[in-house]
Amino acid sequence: MARGATPDCVSPSALAERLLAWYGRNGRALPWRARPGEPPDPYRVWLSEVMLQQTTVAAVQPYFHAFLGRWPRLQELAAAPLDEVLNAWAGLGYYARARNLHACARRLCQDHGGRFPETEKELRKLPGLGPYTAAAIAAIAFGRRAAVVDGNVERVVARLFALDDPLPGAKRQVRRLAERLLPGAPADGFPYGEYAQAWMDLGATVCLPRRPRCPLCPLAQDCRARALGRAEELPRRLAKAARPTRRGVVFWLVRPGGAVLVRRRPDRGLLGGMLELPSSEWREAGCSKAEALAQAPAEAAWRELPGVVRHTFTHFHLELTVWAAEANGAAHAGSGCWVRRDELGRAGLPTVMRKVARHALARTA
Ligand code: SF4
Repeated sequence: MARGATPDCVSPSALAERLLAWYGRNGRALPWRARPGEPPDPYRVWLSEVMLQQTTVAAVQPYFHAFLGRWPRLQELAAAPLDEVLNAWAGLGYYARARNLHACARRLCQDHGGRFPETEKELRKLPGLGPYTAAAIAAIAFGRRAAVVDGNVERVVARLFALDDPLPGAKRQVRRLAERLLPGAPADGFPYGEYAQAWMDLGATVCLPRRPRCPLCPLAQDCRARALGRAEELPRRLAKAARPTRRGVVFWLVRPGGAVLVRRRPDRGLLGGMLELPSSEWREAGCSKAEALAQAPAEAAWRELPGVVRHTFTHFHLELTVWAAEANGAAHAGSGCWVRRDELGRAGLPTVMRKVARHALARTA
């Protein structure tokens, strides 16, 4: 194909051949991937794909190993109490994923004999499996013909076709183009799993967001953005709305002997079902002293610790002040429980609450 031509006229099978040859030499060895000659394990594929939603490979790896070590098979994960799964997920973020993971494991064991369905359509009916994850499992675990379009693949496709429409609005268009590039027909023996992983790896290691490494790219001759000298400026993205800042108070209540009060958050909503140090509402206007005191877990001589704990969620920044107090020996935990200070690190607190605990520990005896 001549330099500068659009990929509209590229044969999907010729492009796939170049991509797969590159993948054979440069594909990443990741712990959830089958080694050459091994059949893929749907449980590992599913677990990794759920963990990788919105999360980097580097962050996922220790959690993937920890989950597999603790629950080596789907049946063991399904039999685990939800609280244990949430605690094991603590620190990975987007906690609805952990709840869905557990619900999905149970559904598979109850309704599917402990086996994953093989088609995108059936996979989509399971908790927590959206279009991307269902396509990834269908292709990688079962070799089904499926367009697997994650953020990396979106970027590569947008550049290949030099799409001017900004993301995320152009997602559908990108998906249609990715489907058009899928070679073959169902049941033709094409390695759809490797093909999907090749796209992901190309986006993650060569077609990088800021500085695409076009001279190393197996699709360079097919790439319109490269031909136009626009690789670095594409894909365009709509400016994100500025994140608001919410504020609140966290209560660090310590019992004689050093145990700290923690409680579980409601199942629904942000950090649903996760452990937390009790806190007030988080609002942009913050809380007055009287409002905060009304939400404290106990009457006590509360004192504000110096400094602020900052954390950023997807949709807002959070600033927390920490109030500390000593509980008397008869203090009730209410719906919470007491955790020894030296065990807080293993208690399953989400990242924001780990920050609060570090902050409080550094400022109290
Ligand atoms: Fe990305 Fe460059 Fe390859 Fe085009 S040639 S797909 S911009 S790395």
